[in-house]
Amino acid sequence: MGMGLDELLQEAEVAHGHLCAGQVLGVRMAMLAMRELGVGDPRVRVLESGALNPDRKRLVTFVEIDRCATDAIGVVTGCRVGKRALKLRDFGKMAATFVDLYAKLEGDEYKGLRVVALESSKGRAKELYPELEKNAQQMKAYREMPDDELFAMQWVRVPLPASEFPGYKGERVVCASCGEGVNFDRFVERDGVRVCLGCAGGEYYRAL
Ligand SMILES: [Zn+2]
Ligand SMILES: [Zn+2]
Repeated sequence: MGMGLDELLQEAEVAHGHLCAGQVLGVRMAMLAMRELGVGDPRVRVLESGALNPDRKRLVTFVEIDRCATDAIGVVTGCRVGKRALKLRDFGKMAATFVDLYAKLEGDEYKGLRVVALESSKGRAKELYPELEKNAQQMKAYREMPDDELFAMQWVRVPLPASEFPGYKGERVVCASCGEGVNFDRFVERDGVRVCLGCAGGEYYRAL
């Protein structure tokens, strides 16, 4: 299945609004993971045989940064926030874990590959193209550098209970405090009543 770097970078550029070094890293990171996991192009709906592509909904991806690479990873893997297949764990790291839903381990754990961009890649880009300004330098170098100069990889186990799965439909409750509806298990039980995460102290805003 055709998943060429140039083609994917073009798609990422369209989705993200510009092409930048972060996009290149994100695209390459996802390409590497999918190659290692043996996952085919999820953008293909129907295979040449006429069968539905089984790899279309095979991945759940945890991204550890909320920057350019995140969008690029979404493009290559087909994982979307709105499909619950792209999950942000904002550790501020240029890293992502690609979880294979076809590789179940014990309990609710699945096999995944965590890929992190090496801090040394920036220095290497500078060595390769000292004449270019930083973004151009990194964009060019990150296209060309071998995977092992760009990334470190680690096989990991990731707990993924059914309630975290893309298509999960669970109980919806009404918060006993604010009266707003809450999905799945996104509530806490307090003194025998169920309150939403906002009312439980997790609010990120205050009323004006
Ligand atoms: Zn960008
Ligand atoms: Zn509430």
